[in-house]
Amino acid sequence: MNWNELADRVIDGHRITREEAKSIVDAPDTELLAVLHAAYRVRAHHHGNKVRVHVLQNAKSGVCPEDCAFCSQSMKYNNDVEQYGMQSTEELLEGAKKAYEKGAVTYCMVTATRGPTWGEVDRICDAVRQIKENYDLDVCASLGLLKEGQAEKLAEAGVDRYNHNLETSSRHFPNLVSTHSFEDRVATVTRAKQAGMEACCGGIIGMGEDKDDWVELAFTLRELEVESVPVNFLNPRPGTPLDRSDPPRPQECLKALAMFRFVHPSTDVRVAGGREVVLGSMQPMALYAANSFFTDGYLTTSGQGESDDAVMLREAGFEAEVVEA
Ligand code: SF4
Repeated sequence: MNWNELADRVIDGHRITREEAKSIVDAPDTELLAVLHAAYRVRAHHHGNKVRVHVLQNAKSGVCPEDCAFCSQSMKYNNDVEQYGMQSTEELLEGAKKAYEKGAVTYCMVTATRGPTWGEVDRICDAVRQIKENYDLDVCASLGLLKEGQAEKLAEAGVDRYNHNLETSSRHFPNLVSTHSFEDRVATVTRAKQAGMEACCGGIIGMGEDKDDWVELAFTLRELEVESVPVNFLNPRPGTPLDRSDPPRPQECLKALAMFRFVHPSTDVRVAGGREVVLGSMQPMALYAANSFFTDGYLTTSGQGESDDAVMLREAGFEAEVVEA
């Protein structure tokens, strides 16, 4: 495959095929730099050299009844994740104030839960209305599976973007989760979009799937027309069924990121959880495909920290664009 030629065609509007996507993830390691260079040309065409920097905020932690095999927030597994219920409206407002004062343009509220109760939706909506009245912030919410009518309420209150990951392909999903289905997740993303919110929706690499599953996930996300794709790498959590999984090789992860860039040329493709642990010294290379990353840790694990990330961006020649907190 001539990777530069493929990049030219994608820049000209070609939507790559599953076969082309598979050839990216199947490329030999000796072609990694050529693949990343081609992905970078597509990334630079749409996003320049800018990197959107995100910070995660937990609004409810460690109390989820679902059994997702990769997640330390499930109550089914023994773990030492901090547990607390839904934050009050005041705490959510305080978080928004801090994010605003830090220069954030987006405030994101995340709860570890199967889905919100109607009371929780009301609390989030109340907080969102007050945030919108007081601060010039976009609001993102990640509250789990949405019931009919909940997406509309959130959108009406002013939530701009809804995060809900599909995690993996429809084929592999039942190997990881028994308490809800892949279709449940797709339905929530569809509801969020139909209600008028943008969708932030991605997955995790390294959960025993094969490369066809990466391609399948990328194409499902393209069909759903999501606006933002976080790509996580499994950082096995003690106490979860995947705690002894072998991490994927950094080269494979970088080719997966390049494939997501080719399938989603103009979308916000984010290198997310597991970046430090799985990519190690190859972390900066991820930004040749991704145009966005998390700093300052993830929901249940810590990262290398904001200042190290800022140095990494600067030394690699990228420019931090905005902070989403
Ligand atoms: S539904 Fe979300 S928070 Fe709950 S176990 Fe699954 S991934 Fe974790």
